[in-house]
Amino acid sequence: MIILAACMVTSCNSAPDNVGAPTGQSAITRSDWGNIDGRPVYLYRLQNKNGTVVTITNFGGTITSFITADKHGNASSIIIGFDSLRDYLRHPPYFGAIIGRYGNRIGNGHFSLDGVTYRLAANNGKNHLHGGIKGFDKVVWDPTVPQDSIPSLLLKYISKDGEEGYPGNLTTTVQYTLTDEDALRIDYTASTDRATPVNLTNHSYFNLSGDVSNTILNESLSIDADYYTPVDSSLIPTGRIDPVRHTPFDFSVAKIIGRGIDSVKGGYDHNWVLNKKDSGLQKVAVLSDTASGRTLEVFTTQPGLQFYTGNFLDGQFNNRDGKPVKQHSALCLETQHFPDSPNKPNFPTTILRPGDLYHSVTVYKVLLK
Ligand code: BGC
Repeated sequence: MIILAACMVTSCNSAPDNVGAPTGQSAITRSDWGNIDGRPVYLYRLQNKNGTVVTITNFGGTITSFITADKHGNASSIIIGFDSLRDYLRHPPYFGAIIGRYGNRIGNGHFSLDGVTYRLAANNGKNHLHGGIKGFDKVVWDPTVPQDSIPSLLLKYISKDGEEGYPGNLTTTVQYTLTDEDALRIDYTASTDRATPVNLTNHSYFNLSGDVSNTILNESLSIDADYYTPVDSSLIPTGRIDPVRHTPFDFSVAKIIGRGIDSVKGGYDHNWVLNKKDSGLQKVAVLSDTASGRTLEVFTTQPGLQFYTGNFLDGQFNNRDGKPVKQHSALCLETQHFPDSPNKPNFPTTILRPGDLYHSVTVYKVLLK
């Protein structure tokens, strides 16, 4: 056991929930979770002094649970996930995973850059989705536990030149940190040796009630955005940037999600153009659930937010408690650049060039109200 300033790091083989630190102490522990292609997979358990727990595996950099107390003092996970690696190998729709090299869709699976056309894997009809067939959600990341007083996990992955059709060797890190303010901070970095599009995000599915049998349609949401990017029938942005005012896309003032959803064909699955003065870390969305008293604040440095109401969830996967994850059982708030930016010259660029450092930050903070 290595003991850090205020944070204890242990390694063990037992079930992660049996190895927590005493309440009042922050800690990070590691359990063996299996092997993929001879590479060890672990489950890390980050706990803060309030007893809030986040578990993360280095398979796909996946957040498997985010356990907080509700207003009655009952603890449950506000994100969907499983307790075994085997369940993740059944390929759920990106539950909790890191998404890369490019979050969301690239139309027709191709783009041109510096005069060269690149063809990517078409894994969503004719389009490319979430980095392709074997995106960053399906690879084993190299984990390190930084010597820090705050529980933190650093993951690294080198994506080879040509992987899923993308140019350049891309070195990516994702660092998860759980603060004593019940904030999960995610720092993403990337660097490349050839120009390439990069758009990294996390695909956690939230249900603040902690129980997927309650739909998220009763939760209320605000998004600090006056514009969004409308999409065509295959969910590729048309290129327009339209005002949300007087449309069901207006979340500039908090509203119950179920209120306008019926007038949006298929449900919400769109990118909001965040009202941001600069690329600083800013609060961009607030999700609340009255019954549990939980509120989730989302902060990001990114220009966009994909709000997805779990429209394609169909009960095929059960949450860790055995309950089926159905349509609208959970929602995603994916901080990002806009979908299909490599083909949309009017969208902020997603091209990373050699010598430049990609760095973005997103924070998911839970409060009780
Ligand atoms: C996309 C959805 C997609 C889902 C997959 C979301 O980010 O916007 O269209 O079905 O990811 O889980």
